[in-house]
Amino acid sequence: MHLSPQERAEIKRLLEELVVELEERLKTTGDQSKPVQLDEPIGRLSRMDAIQMQQMALAGLSREQQQLVRARYALRLIDDVDFGSCQVCKRAIGVDRLRFQPEILLCTRCA
Ligand SMILES: [Zn+2]
Repeated sequence: MHLSPQERAEIKRLLEELVVELEERLKTTGDQSKPVQLDEPIGRLSRMDAIQMQQMALAGLSREQQQLVRARYALRLIDDVDFGSCQVCKRAIGVDRLRFQPEILLCTRCA
């Protein structure tokens, strides 16, 4: 575990704010034609499969839609002990990077 409970709570709040903000922005632009569901229970997938599914689902979406999908996905992982670690190599992502981009799930090397 790389994040303190306080840091985790902070990132969670940032993610929730980001989701609300992006949903509002996409609502006003009407850019919600392709809702993406990533509701597959994470436990049934390996992390690599989950990342690949995410990449496939993200292809063809606008930048803001992609960010929204990522933010929602990160929110589902926020209580996981692994949250804050790179989904690929397991290195710590770093709380400063998470504050800047809370939806990020990969370290700088794997992004
Ligand atoms: Zn990595």
